[in-house]
Amino acid sequence: KEDVEKQQISELLHKLPKLDKIFEVHRKIGEGTFSSVYLGSLRQHTALPASEKRWFAIKHLVPTAHPARIEHELRCLQDIGGRNNVIGVDLCLRHMDTIVFIMPYIPHKKFSEYVGDMDAGELRRYMRALLVALRHVHSFGVIHRDVKPSNFLYDRENGRYLLVDFGLAQRICPPEEGSKPPPPPAHCNNPKRPRDEQEDCMPSAKRMALDLSLGTKKNGNAVESAKLTPQSPKATFAPRINMPKENGAAGRCGCGGGAGCARCRCACAGAGAVCGWCAGRGAARAPRAGTQGFRPPEVLLKVPEQTTAVDMWACGVVLASALSARYPFFRAADDLAALAELADLLGTTRLRAAAEALGRRVVTSAQRRGVCLRRLCARLRRAHARAPHPAPAHAHAACEQCTLPPTQCLCRDETKKPEDFDSTLTIAGFPDSAFSLAARLLDPNPHTRISADEALRHPFLEEDD
Ligand code: ADP
Ligand code: MG
Repeated sequence: KEDVEKQQISELLHKLPKLDKIFEVHRKIGEGTFSSVYLGSLRQHTALPASEKRWFAIKHLVPTAHPARIEHELRCLQDIGGRNNVIGVDLCLRHMDTIVFIMPYIPHKKFSEYVGDMDAGELRRYMRALLVALRHVHSFGVIHRDVKPSNFLYDRENGRYLLVDFGLAQRICPPEEGSKPPPPPAHCNNPKRPRDEQEDCMPSAKRMALDLSLGTKKNGNAVESAKLTPQSPKATFAPRINMPKENGAAGRCGCGGGAGCARCRCACAGAGAVCGWCAGRGAARAPRAGTQGFRPPEVLLKVPEQTTAVDMWACGVVLASALSARYPFFRAADDLAALAELADLLGTTRLRAAAEALGRRVVTSAQRRGVCLRRLCARLRRAHARAPHPAPAHAHAACEQCTLPPTQCLCRDETKKPEDFDSTLTIAGFPDSAFSLAARLLDPNPHTRISADEALRHPFLEEDD
């Protein structure tokens, strides 16, 4: 491996002689989908001891990356970076298709090495630093889109933090004028059909148009089930999410009696054909850049207008990871399985309501009540076999899984005021408020999800270390 790395370094220096002139390139320190990152120091510091050298991270972008993508990343680093825990750029060198960004280096360990180790104080400082970085990025109208521990570098010894990697960053675009689909044909609203069937006939807002390639089952529904791995926090549940098939299913439409539009099932088209309105709709297209396990419901549901709330969800996943000492926290292999995991955690009712608010419809084959994050974390950390306080006689109706007192149950405290938090209640040493912040970040509805600015004023982060 060392030989391969040496070879890569010498090839890079050969292609970019300017780099060789200014820097010593020591070794590879990171690798992502779009780059290799090397540790460098100034040639003029060669004689100095390591502690006196100035160290740099040299990010070599893959030559196949689109020039516009590279330019955008560089602009983000220049315009946004260099303050508030956000990486800046010192220099950019290019020769032909070889491009490197020279950035300040921050020593850091892998998240998996300290995820189970952080106590409440350290986690508070870590989350504060991440939120300060995100508040700063978001103030520029930019979504980072790839918030995750390997892009938030933490120098544990010196208490320094850096949000890196703007390779997927996106400016928030206001929705285009007239981008809404036209209303469906009037004959879709056949009053004879039951209400839910009518909604099926009205792709306007309700129908989930995932263009995932799903296997089909005999009943005409495409079915994907979430296989949860034994290590998964949610291993006790085995949900399935059924996505109604877009094509076929003739006969369900009251207006066509089996010979309607193959997609919305209205009566305007011949058997097997697709009506003009549906044909004009096309497949749902929405940004989905990011990393599996950190994508929020609006990305999984292909909602075209996405906001900085995308990053806040990812922040919630990071917090849940630290609270549960599990990394990765979500392990689903694809978007549909990821939705099933969310249904497990949040409950099908909440997920469906959030989807509805986003103009999507999620159909599940089973109901999930959701789990209490406190209880889940306690179980995963094996810190408390039972709740530290006696369970109430009647569990909260929306969360029968949870037998914790209402003050501790995540399912009930979304609207908790600062004075309602009990700092003496802890799970594995983490206060009540930490779980509440996780719940606010993992709000499936991006319209009500907490912002970075609000999160910094949340009781968990306001408490003294
Ligand atoms: P990619 O776009 O390929 O994911 P990143 O910018 O995320 O590239 O860098 C990949 C890895 O390189 C990071 O996860 C980190 O380990 C390392 N790295 C990147 N920037 C720095 C830096 N400034 N200091 C130290 N290590 C860095
Ligand atoms: Mg990265």
